[in-house]
Amino acid sequence: MSKPLLRIPYTGPLPPPLIIPKTASTLPGAATAIAEFLTSSRSSNHGVLPSGGKTVLLTGAGISVASGLADYRGQNGTYTRNKSYRPIYFHEFVSSHEARKRYWARSFLGWTSLHRSKPNAAHFAVQDLHRLGLLSSVITQNVDSFHGRAHPTLPVIELHGFLRSLVCLSCRRLMPRDEFQNWLSKLNPAWHDFLAELLKTGALDTEDPEERRMKGYRTNPDGDADVPGAPYGTFRYPACPECLRRPPILKDGSKGRVEVDADGAWSEKSDSGVLKPNVIMFGESIPAETKAQAEKAIDEAARVMVIGSSLATYSAWRLIKKAFDQELPIGILNMGGVRKEADFFPDYKNIVDGRHIFRASLPAEEVLPEVVKML
Ligand SMILES: [Zn+2]
Repeated sequence: MSKPLLRIPYTGPLPPPLIIPKTASTLPGAATAIAEFLTSSRSSNHGVLPSGGKTVLLTGAGISVASGLADYRGQNGTYTRNKSYRPIYFHEFVSSHEARKRYWARSFLGWTSLHRSKPNAAHFAVQDLHRLGLLSSVITQNVDSFHGRAHPTLPVIELHGFLRSLVCLSCRRLMPRDEFQNWLSKLNPAWHDFLAELLKTGALDTEDPEERRMKGYRTNPDGDADVPGAPYGTFRYPACPECLRRPPILKDGSKGRVEVDADGAWSEKSDSGVLKPNVIMFGESIPAETKAQAEKAIDEAARVMVIGSSLATYSAWRLIKKAFDQELPIGILNMGGVRKEADFFPDYKNIVDGRHIFRASLPAEEVLPEVVKML
C-alpha cells in the first residue's frame, strides 16, 4: 500500500529561487518565457502531446495574496505574516472541544474578510488562458474558492478542500458556511457585537495585512483570525442539524449521541454530530478520490505550471515530482524559493528560452496578465 498523503507543513528553510532563463528576472522577460512555455509545440518523449498540448496548473497561497489573503510563508520560507500562527491539526479539532471553540471563534471573525475578498488579476488571467485553449485543468492547494469563481468552466481540483462548506464528521453531509455564520452569530451575541465593533473600526475594511495587524487583527489563508487576548473558551458552536434530528450510527453499530444546550449549542455530553470546515487540515489525509483526480490531471496534461506555491506540503511537491518523473516540462512562477527546486531543473544553465522549462520569482497578478497580452 502506498503511504497516505498527509497534509503536513514543511517548516525548513527554502533555497533561493532559480531564475530560468536568465531573462526571466524582469517582468517582460518572465512573461515572454511563460508565453513560450504555454504555447510550445515541442513533442514530448511520448510522441504527440496529450490533451492537445494543454497545461495543468498547480496553484498555492501565493496566487491569492493580491486578494488580501496572507501567504503562509515569506521568501525565506518562514511564517512571516504572523509569527505566533500555528495551524490547527486535524487530531486536535476532532478530539478537543476547547480546540474547536478556539477554531470557530477565530473562523467567525475571519469569515467576513474572507467572504468579502475576491479573485484577483492572476485568477482572471487564468480564465483568459483557458479561453485561449491553453489549459486542461487547475489543481489548487487553496481553500478560498477563487478559481471556481473566476473561471467556472475550467475544471478545478481542490486538493485541500474548500471553506465554503462544512462537513459533518458523523454523517458526512455538507452545509453552507454562510448559513453557519448566522448561526454562530446567534449563539454568540457578545462575539457578534465584538465583530461588529471590528467592522466599525475598519480593521476588516483594509485589504492591507500590515494595516490589519496594526489594528490588532490578523487573518490567515485558512480564513481564521487572531485577536490577542480574546476569551475563546466562551465560544459556542452548533451541532449537525441532521445528526441532532436523527442520531448517526457509529462505526461499532451503536447509536451516536448528540446533545445541545437550550440554545442549540453542541454539548460535551455528545459523542458525534461535530461539524468541521470542509478543508483538509494539517495532519489529515487527502481523500483517495481527490488524490486520484490530481494524478489523472497530471497524466493527461502536456506540461505543468506551478503558480504561487513553494511546494511546502508534500502532497503538492509529490505531484510535481510525478510530472518530473514523467518527463513533463515544468514551469514555476513563485515569489521566493521552492522546496528542492533544483531537483526539477537539472540542466537549467544552458536554457535560453521558456519552451522547455521556466522559473521566475515575480508576483503572479503582474506577470500573468502580461502573458495574456502577448498571446
Ligand atoms: Zn451529521
